[in-house]
Amino acid sequence: MDTKVFHKISYGVYIVTSREGDRINGQAANAVMQVCSKPPLIAIAINKENLTHEFIKKSGVCAVSILLQDAPPSLIGRFGFKSGREMDKFDAINYRLGANGCPIIAEHTAGYLEAKVTKELDAGTHTIFIGEVMDSQLFNDGEPMTYAYYHDVKRGTTPKNAPTYIETKQEEKEGKAMKKYKCSVCGYIYDPSEGDPDGGIVPGTPFEKLPDDWTCPVCGASKDQFEPEG
Ligand code: FE
Repeated sequence: MDTKVFHKISYGVYIVTSREGDRINGQAANAVMQVCSKPPLIAIAINKENLTHEFIKKSGVCAVSILLQDAPPSLIGRFGFKSGREMDKFDAINYRLGANGCPIIAEHTAGYLEAKVTKELDAGTHTIFIGEVMDSQLFNDGEPMTYAYYHDVKRGTTPKNAPTYIETKQEEKEGKAMKKYKCSVCGYIYDPSEGDPDGGIVPGTPFEKLPDDWTCPVCGASKDQFEPEG
């Protein structure tokens, strides 16, 4: 089996949110698609271990915020690499509650869909929720972020519990080794030749020269949580 071919499947990047009583949570997701137009149905795959999964199961409602290309990796990292069990992911995030009570991200988003779960399908590590869209709104006509754009342009990484996670082979890691440093929390790789332009680090800055308060642009981990690659 050639796992590289999986990278040729196209996806978007979304923040899927839900609630349980007064509590709200959300997570980054790529496996979201429309599967029917009458009625408008969407399918969403969510890892069973995630808090958002627990909330969708209990409340039967969710919302999907569609990220734009300008969404910073830190926003995706906040929702993709942190757990709502340990922090309030919505602290310092511009959001509002939709008609079904689920949070909608109000910045860096093209719009949203609110859904009521009508069916569930067990998919191994994940549950596929089928939801009927009850409300939606287009905020603007900007370019939505695709998964490829997130990886290639934003140099984003994939958490281990995403449906698309593929383990990097040891030989691939060793082949690329050259003063690159890897975040031990999220897998982001700091490449000195590219720097971290969003974080004000110019290309050509060696890892050792990064300021002490520099943090991982994806998950916010501190510099000492990085390890040399290879
Ligand atoms: Fe990280």
